[in-house]
Amino acid sequence: MKRSALPTLAFSLFTTAVLAEGGFYGDPPDATHPWAIHDMNRPQPMRVEPGTFSSQEVPGTPPSDAVILFGGKPEEIEKWISDKNGEPTKWVVKDNVLQCVPGSGYIRTKEEFSDCQLHIEWSAPNKVEGNSQGRGNSGVFLMGQVEVQVLDNYNNPSYPDGMASSIYGINPPLANPLRAPGEWQTYDIVFRRPIFKDGKEIDPGYITVFVNGVLTQDHTPLEGGGGHMKRSKPRAFPDQGPLKIQDHGNPVRFRNIWYRPLPKRAVEGGEASRMSEEATAAKRAEIAKGIREDATKLEGNAKMLRLFESLCYEPNEDANHTATLMLGAFVTDMKNTAADKIESKKGEIMQVTKALRYLTQFKFIPDNLKAKADLEAIIKAQDWEPKKK
Ligand code: MG
Repeated sequence: MKRSALPTLAFSLFTTAVLAEGGFYGDPPDATHPWAIHDMNRPQPMRVEPGTFSSQEVPGTPPSDAVILFGGKPEEIEKWISDKNGEPTKWVVKDNVLQCVPGSGYIRTKEEFSDCQLHIEWSAPNKVEGNSQGRGNSGVFLMGQVEVQVLDNYNNPSYPDGMASSIYGINPPLANPLRAPGEWQTYDIVFRRPIFKDGKEIDPGYITVFVNGVLTQDHTPLEGGGGHMKRSKPRAFPDQGPLKIQDHGNPVRFRNIWYRPLPKRAVEGGEASRMSEEATAAKRAEIAKGIREDATKLEGNAKMLRLFESLCYEPNEDANHTATLMLGAFVTDMKNTAADKIESKKGEIMQVTKALRYLTQFKFIPDNLKAKADLEAIIKAQDWEPKKK
């Protein structure tokens, strides 16, 4: 994209024709891509106010759209219950920190959710006791199904598929970036549940993990829920589930727990850059409809170009007919413009011609259009085309 085109484009959304702004020049939509390259009809990303990063002393703040599961307030313990019996948990909040009380059992959130970005910070006991799986062991269970291991592996080897940030029983972490026990460790997790349709796996589900900012799970495919000693097999998960935290007999502490739900994937009907031909056709029809509706609020060339633009997403007799009639009227008007006034029409003529060039280049309208040839003739006669150097 040319830099100079950006500021104009940024303010043109929905109110004026994108073609008219000279911005619709990237490769058009195709069978598996509902949007053009650099398409201003594509929705703007939603605004999220970022949070702050944690230090050892002070927990960070979550982004504006996060759902807080534990932010340091004692009453937030009420968002959690005993996994065993659904009763209030015996885990405690001490110094704004959620702490496992060994022997009291797993906890789970009352809230249920699925695909998410999860942030959680934990700290193993200062006093080092035990080794391998016995030291500072807990675990974060996404949807209650699959464990991202929490374990004090600082100078503490164990079986790799059970080390801190392993997908327990499935995949070891790519690295061990743990801090010393007693210090805060940060997990940032991206979780996608497995998707099955008619008993067949159409997406295995994935987990990505950053530990203290270091990538430890890189889009690791799930094979069921993992587990202890037994190799799990791919299986469907429920639609939603709680977040569980493990009591493995160590007083591990937690703080700053929040998640952001993630949008649907393409395989479950969500939007993506590349989609199935069927989903792409449906999306293109939806975009075209929106543009045609937008055109009804416009007049003159803006309306005409918006109607033409809709043809890039979906052929439509009415839109094509109306826009072609408007184009004919515009060209007649230009041809009847007196020689000393034509210069004042340069902007409009160039704008419409550029759009027509795009539409013919990608075969959305026939390339032998008389109106286009007439406009090109005016441009040539007036010598308006910038000279190529
Ligand atoms: Mg564990």
